[in-house]
Amino acid sequence: VALIVQKFGGTSVADVGRIRHVARRVVATVQQGHRVAVVVSAMAGETDALVALAKDAGGERPDPREYDVLVATGEQKTIALLAMAIHRLGHKARSFTGAQMGMRTDASHTRARIQHIDRARIEAVLDAGAVAVLAGFQGIDDAGDVTTLGRGGSDTSAVAIAAALEADVCEIYTDVNGVYTTDPNMVPAARKLARISFEEMLEMASLGAKVLQIRSVKLAQQYGVSLHVRSTFEEGEGTWVTREEDVMEHLVVSGVTYQRNEAKIRVAGVKDQPGISARLFTPLSDAGIVVDMIVQNASQDGSTDITFTVPRTDHKRALEMAARVGREIGAQSAEGDEKIAKVSIVGLGMKDHAGVASKMFRTLADEGINIQMISTSEIKISVVIEEKYTELAVRALHTAFVENGAAEPKAE
Ligand code: ADP
Ligand code: ASP
Ligand code: MG
Repeated sequence: VALIVQKFGGTSVADVGRIRHVARRVVATVQQGHRVAVVVSAMAGETDALVALAKDAGGERPDPREYDVLVATGEQKTIALLAMAIHRLGHKARSFTGAQMGMRTDASHTRARIQHIDRARIEAVLDAGAVAVLAGFQGIDDAGDVTTLGRGGSDTSAVAIAAALEADVCEIYTDVNGVYTTDPNMVPAARKLARISFEEMLEMASLGAKVLQIRSVKLAQQYGVSLHVRSTFEEGEGTWVTREEDVMEHLVVSGVTYQRNEAKIRVAGVKDQPGISARLFTPLSDAGIVVDMIVQNASQDGSTDITFTVPRTDHKRALEMAARVGREIGAQSAEGDEKIAKVSIVGLGMKDHAGVASKMFRTLADEGINIQMISTSEIKISVVIEEKYTELAVRALHTAFVENGAAEPKAE
């Protein structure tokens, strides 16, 4: 008997027909003799619709406590519906909201962190021979207030529950049948990876591959949870996210990712002297705005340009701050640009391969794509380009590194 945590994402529970299909899959696992805890997301589009309602009523930045009370309702609907659909198949199931299952988080509304899970509560349900149907994305803080974990947070709920229960496996069911070398909905030539290391998955998730929320990958790595990403609608193995040692051979590039949710701000003609960057970035960090890439040009005649990226949702605020500080420090101008995208290549094999960066830049140049910013780490290279070239860049890089890549990818 195994203890299995199964998580079903929004498209998997998009309507009652699909919820009934999910119920059949869950029951099939129960019939194999396993103990099953199921974590569900809200129906596809539901959370977006709730966020839009919140903004309609509360403005661009609605009260975070009330925002959480509202957006958590999406998952409350699906747990009840799934439990009913399981009952209809003649099996026992009980639904639990975050509060009911004792999913304790800190009080940072809209991006709360999980602190503790009441394992006994869930185990009692499983011991009674029932399926535990658990709401993803939501928790409760010490004050008893509803919290949410940030968009895509049901993945993190599922991994945290798997860790707390010491489950044998955490299965992430979604609308694709695994983790691919790039977004299969954009590039048909994308290949499914049989295995990927936590390190690479972390980079891919943080660079835009939304198939797993980044925090879920971190938690799985930290607690040694076996993660299996697979399809709700097809049978068969998906992708195992595992420790680096368990991935036999490292591809130079195992993934190409893109992100269109950032904006660029350029502060031109600032004095090249100590303290300028601190003046510029302190107000941003005080306002909780996360700066991603930063590039400072070599100075000419004692003055320089500083360019950086921020989440697009913070662009307006960040530009206002940059303009204000810019005036104080005597900058020539501060301008923003939302029409950018970040395209990245990720791979553990990059560590011991020379020439990856130059090949990336050559590939983009051959397509006539200008590179605006570059950032690198041991296992990734990211570039900022004009947004309209996103798809072209992703396809060209995928062709160059994966389809015609030096090492044959271990794909199926
Ligand atoms: P769910 O609603 O099940 O949580 P998501 O929409 O959050 O599903 O994530 C699945 C989507 O992630 C896929 O439909 C796919 O378009 C996208 N995706 C982006 N990059 C990748 C990748 N490298 N491999 C697989 N899917 C990817
Ligand atoms: N329903 C939430 C969202 O859309 C959480 C999730 O689906 O993981 O972000
Ligand atoms: Mg998701």
